[in-house]
Amino acid sequence: MDTKKLIEDSEHYLMNTYKRFPVVLRKGRGLKVWGTDGKEYLDFVGGIAVNCLGHCHPKVVVAIQKQAQRLLHVSNLYHIEPQIRLAKLLVEHSFADKVFFCNSGAEANEAAIKLARKYAKDNIGPDRYEIITAIGSFHGRTLGALTATGQEKFHKGFEPLCPGFRYVAFDDLDAIRNAVNKKTCAIMLEPIQGEMGVRMPGEDYLKGVREICDKEGILLILDEVQTGMGRTGKLFAYEHYGIQPDIMSLAKGLGGGVAIGAMLATRAVAAAFQPGSHAATFGGNPLACAAAVATIETLLEDGFILDNCKRMGRYLMHEIEDIKKEFLSLVVDVRGKGLLIGMELTRDCSSIVMDMLKKGVLINCTSGNVLRFTPPLIVTEKDIEHLTIALGEVFHELHAG
Ligand SMILES: *Cc1c(COP(=O)(O)O)cnc(C)c1O
Repeated sequence: MDTKKLIEDSEHYLMNTYKRFPVVLRKGRGLKVWGTDGKEYLDFVGGIAVNCLGHCHPKVVVAIQKQAQRLLHVSNLYHIEPQIRLAKLLVEHSFADKVFFCNSGAEANEAAIKLARKYAKDNIGPDRYEIITAIGSFHGRTLGALTATGQEKFHKGFEPLCPGFRYVAFDDLDAIRNAVNKKTCAIMLEPIQGEMGVRMPGEDYLKGVREICDKEGILLILDEVQTGMGRTGKLFAYEHYGIQPDIMSLAKGLGGGVAIGAMLATRAVAAAFQPGSHAATFGGNPLACAAAVATIETLLEDGFILDNCKRMGRYLMHEIEDIKKEFLSLVVDVRGKGLLIGMELTRDCSSIVMDMLKKGVLINCTSGNVLRFTPPLIVTEKDIEHLTIALGEVFHELHAG
């Protein structure tokens, strides 16, 4: 396979929405992926928190194969077996009573925004539509989710955005108290701001937000598109903070590599959606749901994978803390929960990602100067040693140069 020609064609035929690295990945197993040139990589990106069970996990692959032979698609005008099983699993393992399925994180957030508005209009008053979101948040690229995203750099060029959003500083309860008004219907937050560089709020923040919501009679929407599905060591990140949301969005890891999104809510809130309120042609299709059922069942099987996520998260954090101590002029901060870990640098990190790629390790750079590690939750100590040795070498070369 001619990699150079493939990359030429990629640049020729695809819209220029991603700055892509010069590799074409064509095969993966577990933590490993291989390029068309035969080169092997250790994947600490994992599709950015998507491949929670690693690449081509046999349980997920077999579930897809079986479902593909049985039924690929039917309309949501009919009941769909794997969709029912998936909804039941999600409800049994979360705060929620009801689930709506769609195909991506942005779409799940759109559904959450619409449900919050509809619930507030039906139950509180006709002028309750405003949603408070956090500065530095990321909720997706469709216009509603983009407006909810509290980062100007993503808005630029796409104005006018949607009315009805208000932004406050993250991890600041007074900012929320000051922003709530007669129009507010919900507060929408990520438990940890992944895209913004794995920004962690204080331990009591979400509890405080929950209290404000209860006092004001408004809804708490948690965007767990990145933090959900075991990423932080619990199935959902809200479980760490002793609270429950009213609405939650999921996607990324949900299908173990297959595109699927979900919006979950309590019974009272979900009741605002009636036939015709919202829909998605492919939402909850048999193929994606079969993959997601296999993914959740595997994730929860005897707790082994969540436990591994916690242990390997601590180990990875410990190892990169050591690197930080050695390179205090390069590393500002190391933070995260489970296997969502950020390493903030004093400099732009794109060249480091490139140097790591050359050494056969895939890592991600977000927010300009934060290295983000989101490996499959099945990562081993040996994989982490491989990563940290390569990272140490790259930092040494930088330091010397
Ligand atoms: C990735 C992400 C999204 C967007 O998901 P898509 O599937 O790309 O639409 C939304 N919210 C958060 C927190 C994310 O990390």
